[in-house]
Amino acid sequence: MQIELHNVHKTYTGAQPLHVLKGIDLSIDKGEFVSIMGASGSGKSTLLNILGILDKYDEGEYLIDGKLIRDLSEAQAAEYRNRLIGFIFQSFNLISFKNAVENVELPLFYQGVPRRQRHEQAMAMLERVGLTDWAEHYPNEMSGGQKQRVAIARALVTYPKIILADEPTGALDSRTSAEVMELLAHINEKYGATLIIVTHESGVANYTNRIIHINDGVIGSIDDNREHKSSVFGSRTIMK
Ligand code: ADP
Ligand code: MG
Repeated sequence: MQIELHNVHKTYTGAQPLHVLKGIDLSIDKGEFVSIMGASGSGKSTLLNILGILDKYDEGEYLIDGKLIRDLSEAQAAEYRNRLIGFIFQSFNLISFKNAVENVELPLFYQGVPRRQRHEQAMAMLERVGLTDWAEHYPNEMSGGQKQRVAIARALVTYPKIILADEPTGALDSRTSAEVMELLAHINEKYGATLIIVTHESGVANYTNRIIHINDGVIGSIDDNREHKSSVFGSRTIMK
């Protein structure tokens, strides 16, 4: 889906109000694979949370496919999130007392998909990320890379039009990071979902087609990375 931001501002209020986003202008096309890169504290997560309708902005406009996303009720926001958006987090955010397949089923549960169908779809998605044999395992029995693949399967199981990932490789070693990035690149190629990755690592950003730099709450340069990007070789072995 097409994403557009015009002059978006966000201030965290409190004893010391903090003006974090200072007029973000950004346009991301349907099916793009982009990264948002910037130093710690530059506003990346704040921006991603607004894109994911997890948080509100104070000023400006955020449009998805031309529809203004503003002043939504909690129920409307939840409905949009559930229908359109998949999230991947640095810390995986898996539920520890649910096994892999139950974690993947969760978004389908919220969509009211019947139990049996839920299970089938979740198993199919686990197969795609190469974790069929791990379906009954709990998060604490899995490696970081496996947990992130479960989280990716959970984000994908509803076939969202927009996938947002906040430092998805931040807790992984470099080899596992490369695997996860190749998996994400492959997902973008295969399903055409818009994929937005937040990172402070240039090696991660280098997997994406466009690198959007954010500095102290404003968009700086935007690099076309298609000529230079890392290959998507290994993905074939991880994702069918
Ligand atoms: P990044 O993800 O680029 O590291 P963030 O968007 O998380 O940056 O944070 C930007 C700034 O806003 C930081 O100074 C951070 O401490 C502050 N901040 C983030 N979330 C909150 C919050 N909920 N309340 C107050 N300040 C916050
Ligand atoms: Mg962050």
